[in-house]
Amino acid sequence: MGTAVELINGWILPVLAGPAVGSFLGVLIRRLPAGRDVVLTRSACEACGHVLTPAELVPVLSYLRQRGRCAACGARIDPQHVWIELAALGIAIVAACAVPGGPFLWLSCVLGWWLLALGWIDALSFRLPDVLTLPLIPAGLAEAAWFEPASLAGRGLAATVAFGVLWLVGFVYRRARHREGLGLGDAKLFAAGGAWGGISLLPFAMLVAPVLTLLYAGTLWLRGVPVTGTTKLPFGPFLAAAIWMGWLFRP
Ligand SMILES: [Zn+2]
Repeated sequence: MGTAVELINGWILPVLAGPAVGSFLGVLIRRLPAGRDVVLTRSACEACGHVLTPAELVPVLSYLRQRGRCAACGARIDPQHVWIELAALGIAIVAACAVPGGPFLWLSCVLGWWLLALGWIDALSFRLPDVLTLPLIPAGLAEAAWFEPASLAGRGLAATVAFGVLWLVGFVYRRARHREGLGLGDAKLFAAGGAWGGISLLPFAMLVAPVLTLLYAGTLWLRGVPVTGTTKLPFGPFLAAAIWMGWLFRP
């Protein structure tokens, strides 16, 4: 019986929750940067205002059954919703593979989903909203206080150092190039990385995030998009991905 419970808690629940959480994140990603209410307004077709029925709210499957169109007016549904649901599912699957079941699996999923929303919003709007970055810092420290009290001071120090390092990089860049390179949002996100992963996460993320950003610039270039020294590239999605990897595979 023990193994059945482990299987349900360690695999089935997170993997079932993934697309449902992704569905909520899709709403959050669209509404939060626009200053719209995230929780109380019911989901509706953006073309005709038709309020979605429970059958139209099933993650991924509703989209596939309706062939990506509104059931009432036939308007095309933004496929991003499905990609976010699939990404949230992917996060649950990767976490379930990397972390044994129990509280750390759920923490890994929640952190991954949170970072997914942040990265996606940054990719769309070049903004990392404070309302999402800042709570991650005390959340990481609370995780340390609860599960690894001995690491709390180190994690607090890591958060401070992380913020300072990216703030300094942004400051030097502004002085040298007279334009915005790294925003404070990136520094706050990196501070959250320090709060969750401690000091060892910082060099890892500082190596992986720029490499991912360069790979992304490379794919843009291959697709014929001109990439120059002044091309605006979001750093948040890659920093978020690096933080999550650093957390999952921390020593
Ligand atoms: Zn419609």
